[in-house]
Amino acid sequence: MPFQLYDTLTREVRDVFAMDGNTVRFYCCGPTVYGPAHVGNFRTFVLQDVFRRVLETNGQKTYHARNLTDVDDKTIRESQAEGVSLGEFTDRWAKRFNKDCSALNLLSPHIEPSAVGHVPEQIALISRLVDAGKAYQGPDGSVYFKVEAFKKYGALSRLADREITTSRTERETSDEYDRDSAADFALWKARRSEDGENYWDSPWGEGRPGWHIECSAICLKHMGESFDLHSGGVDLVFPHHENEIAQVEAVTHKTFARHWFHIAHLMVEGTKMSKSLGNLYTLDDIKERGYGPQEVRYLLLSGSYRQPLNFTFDSLNAASKALKKLADFAEKIDGSATPAGSPLVTEFGPFLPVQQAILKDMNTADALGKLFGLVREISDALLKGNYSKDETELVRLRTGFRAVLDLFGFSFSSSKTEEAPAEVVQWAEERWVAKQSKEWAVADQFREKIQQAGWVVKDSKDSFELIKA
Ligand code: AMP
Ligand code: ZN
Repeated sequence: MPFQLYDTLTREVRDVFAMDGNTVRFYCCGPTVYGPAHVGNFRTFVLQDVFRRVLETNGQKTYHARNLTDVDDKTIRESQAEGVSLGEFTDRWAKRFNKDCSALNLLSPHIEPSAVGHVPEQIALISRLVDAGKAYQGPDGSVYFKVEAFKKYGALSRLADREITTSRTERETSDEYDRDSAADFALWKARRSEDGENYWDSPWGEGRPGWHIECSAICLKHMGESFDLHSGGVDLVFPHHENEIAQVEAVTHKTFARHWFHIAHLMVEGTKMSKSLGNLYTLDDIKERGYGPQEVRYLLLSGSYRQPLNFTFDSLNAASKALKKLADFAEKIDGSATPAGSPLVTEFGPFLPVQQAILKDMNTADALGKLFGLVREISDALLKGNYSKDETELVRLRTGFRAVLDLFGFSFSSSKTEEAPAEVVQWAEERWVAKQSKEWAVADQFREKIQQAGWVVKDSKDSFELIKA
């Protein structure tokens, strides 16, 4: 069964497939590292993670890129307010982001390129655009994309339907601008005093790249001129993704990304959760209220990605109860451990309807509904002794449930882990987070402490197990 997903560009639900017949190559716009990401941001990143898991549990290879925006108006402003260098500032928030990603059990992208690490590539792309007559240096020394010179400008966000005309009488220098303006936008920003030490040499004088050019240049380098799918939250459709397309297609004349996957917003009382509105919750805020990252993950998957989703503590509570049911079921079938002898954990067995539901436009809400229906049915059958006693049936059940957990990215500790003292479990959890963030020395310290307490930690792809030494 093919995996189908809504495509913002064609406004149709279309098959997701690898252009090269081998690996689905996809690019996700990553975080702007100027503070902790909020759970609204994580709605987008968790859905992108499930997108990858749907492919991989369906036997498909993937290549997942996610960038780090570490130079823009906001990162410069905030690092200066703190009086630290841009690198030190963004490095701290990038580490925090990766730590939160591990806590949420997000698979690490295959590459995580940064804007600062790709300044020459951005300058090279701007040069190509200037040489092709698609960009020009303005009287302020900044270089602008000439929107009029790219006839397809506005196709993704349907500017024409919104009766927005494009003109170069206006120029836009800020990284994020009004949804309703389609002015020429800055590719290279001439050095200003408020940029401090954050500037580079270029053929147009000292300055720094604009925000939109970073993703285009990074994609050209790491994804090629054309690739399978590009993703972000819906707020990125215009202007960011519209501008990304223009910057690349104006010089390559090829389709940039073949499929556009946008995730609707996480809302708080009817408004988008965002830093600028101050209505945000971070993972730490939620932890203080007694909920863990897995509950956040569940909440974020409880609605279809095409509809806005409301964040409430009631729904976190409901997530907590739902996860408890799944953990009990895992315990009942001893499904936390991968059954011995099962080669690849991609056989859904009795849980096939869950996979089929998610392959249809990644409706995680529908798939979770199917999962709970099956858990109820199977639990009843087990209770009544109606489930086949045949060991192969039980193995299919465990393997299938394991595949479902992989698909949604949930993980339950095995009963063996639960027997370990709380302190040891805590160390093991901290070690896991450190390991995911590639902080090897910290991870080793925890392993040592665990060993001294008489336990051994054993890792699998998504989780760990504690075994008495
Ligand atoms: P930023 O760090 O602001 O660049 O955003 C990182 C990602 O989070 C982008 O893909 C945004 O579109 C997405 N995003 C921001 N706010 C929300 C929200 N409330 N709900 C879902 N996604 C969001
Ligand atoms: Zn981007």
